[in-house]
Parts: sequence; structure tokens; C-alpha cells
Amino acid sequence: QDVMSPTAGGGNVRVVVRVRKFLPREIQRQAECLISMDPHTQMTRLLAPKPSPGDLGKPKSQARGKILEDKSFTFDNSFWSHDEEDDHFAQQEDVYNCLGEEFLDHNFEGYHTCIFAYGQTGSGKSYTMMGTPEQPGLIPRTCEDLFQRIEDSPSPDISYNVRVSYFEVYNEHVRDLLVPRTDPPHYLRIRESPSEGPYVKDLTEVTARNYTELMKFMRKGDMSRTTASTKMNDTSSRSHAVFTITLKQIHHDLSTDETTERTARIRLVDLAGSERAKATEATGQRLREGSNINKSLTTLGRVIAALADPKKTRGGRKGKELVPYRDSILTWLLKDSLGGNSKTAMIACIAPADYEETLSTLRYADQAK
Ligand code: ADP
Repeated sequence: QDVMSPTAGGGNVRVVVRVRKFLPREIQRQAECLISMDPHTQMTRLLAPKPSPGDLGKPKSQARGKILEDKSFTFDNSFWSHDEEDDHFAQQEDVYNCLGEEFLDHNFEGYHTCIFAYGQTGSGKSYTMMGTPEQPGLIPRTCEDLFQRIEDSPSPDISYNVRVSYFEVYNEHVRDLLVPRTDPPHYLRIRESPSEGPYVKDLTEVTARNYTELMKFMRKGDMSRTTASTKMNDTSSRSHAVFTITLKQIHHDLSTDETTERTARIRLVDLAGSERAKATEATGQRLREGSNINKSLTTLGRVIAALADPKKTRGGRKGKELVPYRDSILTWLLKDSLGGNSKTAMIACIAPADYEETLSTLRYADQAK
């Protein structure tokens, strides 16, 4: 591998953090915001919560406040989406302009990209990736910008083909979200092709001719995710949803009559809730799910950490694989979109008033830098 390639230099993983506003339940319990962000330095601080009233009279050794301390982290970007009144409040549009747009540039240059949303359930992963009809997130904005660029394309000798697939990884199994088969649950097999690497066999991939069609597929996949999740006891917070757009640019050289193709994959991933990574209280089926989800999330953390480490991306001795792609289904399937010339971003989503979970999310994100 070329030592000058972006990964070899390290720092090819963009790590950003976003804090959401209070939800009604947090307002109701008068939660205090434990996060502060400095818009100039991008530093994120997690503040130790004030001792709870129950801790107040207790000896210091027993008080919760004793073991908790303020922690600071610095990431590539920090998105303050907590308080709309603040000047540096980050809207959905700001997240897209800061991250999505640049990644799409990369796609049009012919490279793969991958953006993950990581965090505990309820921290804003779906809001960031999918958003709402009024406040669309990264996925719809990417889809819109993609077709806008195609329509604005000045060149008559380039044609485009846009295809989409949508699958979820649940319990180390893959389910097609565009043509779901839930009754009985139907899992797809993973195959490996010498040229293309790992792929999902028989995964539905459809052509989208415009933004409206692409959004229709996105919604369809989302619906089957939700339907399955109500049937199967909230699997959506325990599954990794992988939305993939494949952009093919066909360049037709009018003077020589030759065509060349460039293919880029755009992966947008809503990860399972990170709280499941701690399988402490789980038993039986729950334990298996917990540990398997743990496996994809922890492996992803290790893969991204390895990608950020220049020593590991140069290739090991005797072809030994230093980036542990093979250790989970998710990382194995996303191998082509992680590392090499691909660009990867991790959005760490955090809740404003949740010390323990937030600390674990920030630590996970920190190892990816
Ligand atoms: P997750 O996907 O991590 O489980 P959600 O995206 O569903 O979390 O967010 C939980 C709740 O918080 C939702 O009601 C969502 O609309 C709201 N929310 C999350 N992030 C934001 C934000 N930046 N601004 C406003 N509301 C948000």
C-alpha cells in the first residue's frame, strides 16, 4: 500500500460529537445539562453531576459525586444541538454542510465513504441520520444533494447510475430491509468475491432515477425496520442499519468512443444502541444478543482505532491482517468502505444529562481519533 495514502498518514477517520436538546422527560425531572462545548477549540466537556439530594449527608466515600469527575475531549467537530437560543447552535443543515457535503465530494471523485452514528438509545442517532420530515437528517440531505449535483452536471459525456440497498445486521445476521422476509425471519448469507470482497448474497439492490424514488426506498426500508422492531421487541435499537447508495459515473469519451466507469459507495449507518455493549444484566437470548451486538460495536471500535493508527494500516508482516475486519459481520461487510482511500466518519451522539453513558460514548469516539 502506498505510504502516502491518506490512511497511512493516520487521521483518516473524522470524529465528531453532537449533543441533543432535553426531551420532555428530562425537562420534567429538571435534569441538569452536563455538557459544554467550546465552539472555538471544539473541546467537549462532560461535567460531573451535582451530588444527588440523597448523597448530600453521606460520608464522601459513599457519595456518587466522589468517583465522578469532569472530563474533556477534543474531536474534529462538536455540534451543539442542545439549546436553540445559543449562537453556536447546530442545525441539521450545519451537520450536513460540515460533513455530508465533503463526503459527497469524495464520492463524486470515485471514492467510498462511510458515516456512522454511535451512541446510546435515545441520544439522537436516528435524528442525525434520518431526521424528521421537517428536519431532515444526513441521509435525505445526501440523497437530495446527490441528485441535485447530477442534474446540475454540465457535462454531456457523463451519465450516472444510482442504486440503493438497505439492510440491517441484527445479532450477527443480515436482513434485507427493502424486501423483508420476517415470517419466518429470513437471513441472508455473506459471500466473498475475489474482486469485490465480502458482500451480502441476494441482497436487493434497486435503481433510483431521482430523489423522490430514492426517498421512497429509504422510507420503505425504515418501515420494515420499525415493523420488525415492534414484532420482535424493539430490535431497532439493537440492530445496525446500513443504508448504501452506489453511485456509478459512466464517462463517455466522445473522441475515442471509449467509456470508463467510476463507482463509489456511500454508506450511512445507524448503529445499535451502545448501551447494549454492556451485557452485564443480560441472560439467555438477551445475553447472546447483547454479546453479539457488543461484538459488532467493539470490533468496529477496534477497526476504526486501527485505521487511525498509521502502523496498522501499512499492512503487517507476512500479510497478517492488523485491522480486524473479519471479527464481526458489520466490519467485514463494510471493509471496502473503511480504510484504504475511503473516508470514514463517526458521529458520537450524546444525551445532555447522562454521565455514565456519555462518558463511555466519548471514550469510544476518542479511540477512533
Ligand atoms: P436514537 O436513534 O439514538 O435512539 P433518536 O434519534 O430517536 O435517538 O432521538 C431520541 C429523541 O430525541 C427523538 O424524539 C428525537 O426526535 C429527539 N432528538 C434527538 N436529537 C435531537 C436534536 N438534535 N434536536 C432535537 N431533537 C432531537
